[in-house]
Amino acid sequence: MPNDSRGDQYPTGPIRCSFCGKEQDQVRKLVKGPTDIFICDECVAACVDILEESLANDFMAGGGDFSDMLDSFGLQGSQLAELDEADDDGHHGKQVIDRVPTPHEIYDELSQYVMGQEDAKRAMSVAVYNHYRRVLEGGAAEGARDESDGADGRLPIGKHAAGPDDLSDVELAKSNILLLGPTGTGKTLLAQTLARILEVPFAIADATALTEAGYVGEDVENILLKLINAADGDIERAQVGIIYIDEIDKVARKAENLSITRDVSGEGVQQALLKILEGTVASVPPTGGRKHPQQELLQIDTTNILFICGGAFVGLDKIIADRVGNKGVGFNSEIAGPTSTDENDLLRQVLPQDLNAFGMIPEFIGRTPVITETCALTEDDLVSILTEPRNAIVKQYRRMFQLEDCDLEFEPEALHEIAHLALERKTGARGLRSICEQLLQKTMFDLPSEQGVEKVVVTAAAVRGEEEPLRVLSAA
Ligand code: ADP
Repeated sequence: MPNDSRGDQYPTGPIRCSFCGKEQDQVRKLVKGPTDIFICDECVAACVDILEESLANDFMAGGGDFSDMLDSFGLQGSQLAELDEADDDGHHGKQVIDRVPTPHEIYDELSQYVMGQEDAKRAMSVAVYNHYRRVLEGGAAEGARDESDGADGRLPIGKHAAGPDDLSDVELAKSNILLLGPTGTGKTLLAQTLARILEVPFAIADATALTEAGYVGEDVENILLKLINAADGDIERAQVGIIYIDEIDKVARKAENLSITRDVSGEGVQQALLKILEGTVASVPPTGGRKHPQQELLQIDTTNILFICGGAFVGLDKIIADRVGNKGVGFNSEIAGPTSTDENDLLRQVLPQDLNAFGMIPEFIGRTPVITETCALTEDDLVSILTEPRNAIVKQYRRMFQLEDCDLEFEPEALHEIAHLALERKTGARGLRSICEQLLQKTMFDLPSEQGVEKVVVTAAAVRGEEEPLRVLSAA
């Protein structure tokens, strides 16, 4: 059950009827009393039944007014309206996610934005589907319980019998994702696009900025604040969001730790992340920074937050190569694959002990059970990234030129030349935009004040800096 997000006028735990103990989503209405006391519609009905006989005369004498009856319970009618409103905007434990797209649907949608990276797209589609099915199932199970309650609606939760094949009590473990792959290959883009598809809040954190509590640096809880901010302060929504933790490989354990003010070993950060990765109710300072005594803290349950941790893991391929090459050594030697010098093939064979050898602690590895990888991009991949995604860079520039009533054309060789330049820079697809920006800057500077330019053509020579993009003037 998610926590309430309305500050101190509601208790921090689940809201329950103070009479029968049912939670908010098990009843139609909960009415709040003057203090933290609640009564559900069923108990009100039961009370009415009980009181009807003895109080019928008094009640009728008071004009039969329902508010009079509420008064006799010390309640105010306006509190009903307040709870109605809470139902409408999905607060107080109502379902934040209605439907989870199938892995196929997620994959298809991802493919409109992320080129290549088939393994990662498939693995993540399944992991994300399973994660949100699990989140939904929490709600569905409670709903099912409501229906199975007795006619009086007062059976304790979970009282209904479960057959030997009934797996509804089996708790589904959380499947956070570890994403390995070189910089600029789409790791952040994958996480971001997934959040957009699922329509959940999304936050990016940098593991290198984090530190174990007590050292100089950012506390791990501040990651959660970013997510709360991305959800416009709505804790219920934040609790089903996605957090991408970048550069996770930079907090791998290192042999030496020479600093006394900064935890350069990284292990402390991994330790600090364990709790939120697994699921805990964390206390977050609402303005960020360090916690202060007497400061009011936001409570956020991380159980249903999906964490995607990404990193380049430079050198991991060598560790895997050593393992798969040394078939007689290591406790997992029986699954040694073919020896390969290809980094992508090697990463595909990663096992938890390789990550451990890299410096990730076993507890951390255990909390990111889905491991997948993005591959280094080829020149052809970069050309498709330039042209194919829904918001491809080339489409964006063409649109910008269209606003000036001018066509923009990239010759095919020019696209390859741009991709080639980006490959040389070794920044993956990240270099593509800056190359295009540089290439078109002068044209974009001149175009708005020039008359009659119908079309601009980008040639391979222009990309190499040997000429300006060609301007085609209109006949008139
Ligand atoms: P990473 O997180 O792996 O370092 P990013 O996801 O931040 O890389 O990628 C940087 C930019 O490069 C993205 O904003 C996106 O425009 C582009 N990009 C990278 N990989 C891909 C891809 N596979 N498909 C489409 N665009 C990509």
